[in-house]
Amino acid sequence: MVGQSNSEFLFEKVTLIGVGLIGSSLARAFRSRNIVKQIAVAARSQSTLDRVAELGLADSVHSDLAEAVEGADLVILCSPVGAYDGIASVIGPHLKAGVVVTDVGSVKQAVIRDVDQYLPDGVHFVPGHPIAGTEKSGPDAGFAELFDGRWCILTPPPGADHRAVEAVSELWRRCGSMVELMEPAHHDKVLAITSHLPHLIAYTIVGTATDLEASERAEVIKFSAGGFRDFTRIAGSDPVMWRDVFLNNREAVLEMLQRFSEDITALQRAIRWGEGDTLEALFLRTREIRQGVVEAHQAGSFDPREPKADD
Ligand code: NAP
Repeated sequence: MVGQSNSEFLFEKVTLIGVGLIGSSLARAFRSRNIVKQIAVAARSQSTLDRVAELGLADSVHSDLAEAVEGADLVILCSPVGAYDGIASVIGPHLKAGVVVTDVGSVKQAVIRDVDQYLPDGVHFVPGHPIAGTEKSGPDAGFAELFDGRWCILTPPPGADHRAVEAVSELWRRCGSMVELMEPAHHDKVLAITSHLPHLIAYTIVGTATDLEASERAEVIKFSAGGFRDFTRIAGSDPVMWRDVFLNNREAVLEMLQRFSEDITALQRAIRWGEGDTLEALFLRTREIRQGVVEAHQAGSFDPREPKADD
């Protein structure tokens, strides 16, 4: 770790393992805002590493994870969470003493379970999750402004090194984010309702539409502006990343899904019995929630290249 007040750079050498939407956005933010001195990148496929080199996102690219983390004072896991166990088992013995390890995974309890076991004493693990993203994947999809004005949640374990937590917090602040500390279990519950269930619902609606008769299916695309298109954006998200999220946040997602199923059954009943007051009362409440999201500046697109809904 580099001192925060005396140095331009927060870390000397950072290694990003995984360089898709999130990893490449971090690399771009690190570069354009002079946050770290040297960026090493590791990924699974040679084609991704070649593309990273072409885009000039890193000082070095590596297919060998042990080589990638050599000498790093910050390692950030940016792959789908299902790969964390294997990655941590390989890099664990090669981490230098005092290194900070963090991540960007969308679930936190499973990540801590999978990674912590491989980290030797003297390595500081500060799990994290930026609440920012788009439905796109890969190193071309990233952009430096992705984290501007968005929250990043950190879930450090009890007794975590204060300097390491502060260094990771400062890293996210310099990337444009606001930082909040949270218990991992609480994180997983909150994200189950704010992110994981909405994705599951979107995947379901789009799946249901594709199962319709051929004639109706064609019209689903043609008239998608009626609401369907907003679900298709979410349902276009990376299949592997989201498979891993549901497999690794099973309890919280199933609990929220149960509550959702009860509420949708109540709505089904209200529609069947013509209970307009019930429907209108719910829609009034949900409109207020939407207003709250807009007022908190968390509405609109995460991509500054697209028009914002709250402008
Ligand atoms: P992505 O665009 O699909 O990129 C994933 C990257 O991980 C690729 O570079 C891939 O390399 C690499 N990778 C996969 N398996 C690997 C392995 N075994 N070893 C090394 N590298 C491996 O994914 P993303 O959207 O950036 O998501 C990355 C993480 O961020 C996930 O954990 C996700 O939960 C979290 N997250 C995502 C969002 C979002 O909106 N997308 C938001 C917040 C947090 P190859 O290209 O070579 O396969």
